[in-house]
Amino acid sequence: MNTKIKFYQSIKFKIALVFALMLMLTLEVVGAVFVRQLERQNMATFKQQVELPTYVNTSLATQLTKTNTDKADKQIKKILSSINNNTISEIRVIDSNAVIRGTSLTSTQSSVGQKSSDKLVKATLAGNRAHTENLYDNGTRARYYVNVVPLVSLSNPNDVVGAVYMKANLEAVYTNINNISLIYFASALITIGFGLGLAILISREITRPIEEMRKKTLQIARGDYSGRLEVLGNDELGQLAGAVNNLSVRIEESQELSEAEQRRLNSVLSHMSDGVLATDRRGNLVTVNSTALQLLGVEKEGDILNRSILDVLGLRRKYTIRQLVDNELDHVILDDQEDESAPILSVSFSPIQQESGFVTGLVCVLHDVTSQQKEEREQKQFVSNVSHELRTPLTSVKSYVEALADGAWQNPEVAPQFLKVVEDETERMIRMINDLLSLSRMDSGTVKVNLEYVNINELFNYILDRFDMIIKKEAADPAKKKYSIERHLTTKDLWVEIDPDKFTQVIDNIVNNAIKYSPDGGVITARLLETHNHVILSISDQGLGIPRKDLSHIFDRFFRVDKARSRKQGGTGLGLAISKEVVNLLGGQIWVDSVEGKGSTFYISLPYVPYEGDDWTDEQEVAD
Ligand code: ADP
Repeated sequence: MNTKIKFYQSIKFKIALVFALMLMLTLEVVGAVFVRQLERQNMATFKQQVELPTYVNTSLATQLTKTNTDKADKQIKKILSSINNNTISEIRVIDSNAVIRGTSLTSTQSSVGQKSSDKLVKATLAGNRAHTENLYDNGTRARYYVNVVPLVSLSNPNDVVGAVYMKANLEAVYTNINNISLIYFASALITIGFGLGLAILISREITRPIEEMRKKTLQIARGDYSGRLEVLGNDELGQLAGAVNNLSVRIEESQELSEAEQRRLNSVLSHMSDGVLATDRRGNLVTVNSTALQLLGVEKEGDILNRSILDVLGLRRKYTIRQLVDNELDHVILDDQEDESAPILSVSFSPIQQESGFVTGLVCVLHDVTSQQKEEREQKQFVSNVSHELRTPLTSVKSYVEALADGAWQNPEVAPQFLKVVEDETERMIRMINDLLSLSRMDSGTVKVNLEYVNINELFNYILDRFDMIIKKEAADPAKKKYSIERHLTTKDLWVEIDPDKFTQVIDNIVNNAIKYSPDGGVITARLLETHNHVILSISDQGLGIPRKDLSHIFDRFFRVDKARSRKQGGTGLGLAISKEVVNLLGGQIWVDSVEGKGSTFYISLPYVPYEGDDWTDEQEVAD
């Protein structure tokens, strides 16, 4: 665009050239006419100059009619010598018999009395009419004008008595014409030179605003809108400069508008919680917002820009760009089965269409549906778990009841056993349903929490005392498993805001589990300590422990390491799930640490603000 124009290609040169050519043509034509006219004029003047006066002709004619030729010849010689005209080279007088009777030149006096052989002389004598001729004399190397005029008798003009032959040198005339022509052409040449210079100057003046406009438009093209063109005059160029200025302002305004629009769009895109991808007509990515990068697990925009959307989303094998453009798919779920940490994405496509219907690209919106999908899956899993958990005890109740109905009720030995199983299973089902109900209440947020400040040290000791009572009671029963509970509790009062009933339920559940999974004679250790803003309780056992892979699922609903064993011991698989919900409800946390085969430790931490009420009482007392 910014190519340099060669001088001979420029308008400047072309205008100057046309101007100079026109000037040259005009001067040529004028020169030709002028020279022609000059020649004609000079010749006419010359002819007039060399024409002999009438009285000379008359007296010569008179002499030719005389019979005494000698006397007449002398007279003729006298007349000729009296003619004082420098322009004339030679005058000859010839009689009607073509005999030369006199000559003005001394060098040709010998020709007098001889017959003239000149053609013009003969023609003049014969035709009684003057004849002229221009001739070139090789001897003198000069051009001559020859004029032969008939001499007639005074009494009868038709009677030709002789002729006058006049020869005049033309060189002076031509030299004069040549000199004048030379002056003319020299001045014409100078004029053309001046004209050319002037033309270049004028054309430069004309093209200067054009050049400035060219520079300005290049500047606009580069995106620099500063400065205005000077508008000189109200001619076409002035108006054009005004129009370019206007154009610059308009482009700047629309550029600013589109940049503002772009910024707005970018800020909308970057603050969107959904990922947005836009492609060109061929489906190659041109725009990606930061959420999309995050969802796709891509670090830099450059890694996916210009790549096909089918490759970026991994849809190459299933779909074509045509299908996406034609809006054949409402949405697609992207779930990378191999990478569990990758989010599950719902992707919807819509074509970008111009008013004419021509598709210029695709917009693709990525929505993170991981939690929805997981929730859905969990819900399905939960329903299936509940059905399964209820079906097992119901099936066993049904089979025992059927056995009783078939006659076992009459057997005093098995009937009480069967009824006991039915009772146990029914109780377990009721427990499970109660657990499910309390979980459901916590899920829906309708559970009532009765918060009060409780000395957790006192409450924990009270709960453990109850277990010690049971140990004491069962000590005599050899069928019962033996275990002991050790306490490593701080002596400090720790006032924590909790719901005591629900908290007791959690501790009961964890201690019961510790007892359940402890070996005979196992020691269960209860600990209580405080940090600057938390109290931490822990219950350790020396039991089976929990396999590492199951640790993360231990608080899931219905999760049990050993289902059959848990059921046999009357477990519902919901105890820890409920404990976790309750602790969370109280603003605390619950977690487990376990080594398989060695034992497990369950921890509960609760938020705690050290109570400084005593200081206040002391101050009161001092004041009193
Ligand atoms: P359950 O009614 O089966 O005891 P929980 O929710 O209380 O249900 O416990 C879930 C599972 O966690 C149990 O089935 C058991 O496998 C495991 N578990 C809980 N506490 C312990 C523990 N102290 N030692 C070993 N495993 C435990």
